[in-house]
Amino acid sequence: MLMATGALTGAKALSAASLNTSSGRDTASRKLIVTGGHPGDPEYGCGGTIARLTSLGHKVTLLYLNNGAWQQISAATRISEAKKACAILGADSRYAGQVNGNAIVDNAHYEEFKKLIEAENPDAVFTHWPIDNHADHRAIANLTYEAWKQLNQRFSLYYYEVSDGDDTNQFPAPTHYVDITTVEDKKQAACYAHASQDPKYFFALQDTVAQFRGLQCRSKRAEAFLLQLGSATDVLRSLQIVLSG
Ligand SMILES: [Zn+2]
Repeated sequence: MLMATGALTGAKALSAASLNTSSGRDTASRKLIVTGGHPGDPEYGCGGTIARLTSLGHKVTLLYLNNGAWQQISAATRISEAKKACAILGADSRYAGQVNGNAIVDNAHYEEFKKLIEAENPDAVFTHWPIDNHADHRAIANLTYEAWKQLNQRFSLYYYEVSDGDDTNQFPAPTHYVDITTVEDKKQAACYAHASQDPKYFFALQDTVAQFRGLQCRSKRAEAFLLQLGSATDVLRSLQIVLSG
């Protein structure tokens, strides 16, 4: 059940001291994870939001299902690009150890992925929208959802969109919009850090999505999210970087 901000209970409850009473902003440092099929996915889908969160002092980890090695492009290249992108966004990176283009979703991998998430003890997790043309994206959305369920839905779970039409399909009406206008350059630099992945084409596509989402919430550029019903909290909204929705 979705509980109203301020009515939270348990270990993740906000203490009175964590609220700046003049602005009402929740200033407690939070731990957020963005899961993605490949290096680059979290940056394209949520790079602006990640930059805004880390600039407010929150800790963000980008958790990739695999290292992105493919044909002539080595794991070392992809990992080094991801490291650069994360440094630009002020985030950390982790890998779930699967193989690009060969995602496995079974009980053993559900368990392994749940343990990874549990050890990080996040306040919120972002993942791909599960209807996606890339099997690796669908896989990590599935693994993330199962971890959320097995961990008693205790963290906020959000879906993000990436390369709409190419990857994400049928993304529903968003519940949250984050204005990324002021961090647009950082997002672009993080996406372009993935130089082996044709950023000219893919960033232009994602930027069109950001402009469309901006139109919907009266900003220049925005990222849109969908909160999973049943999340015990809505951390993004409590941090007051959500515009509307
Ligand atoms: Zn991908």
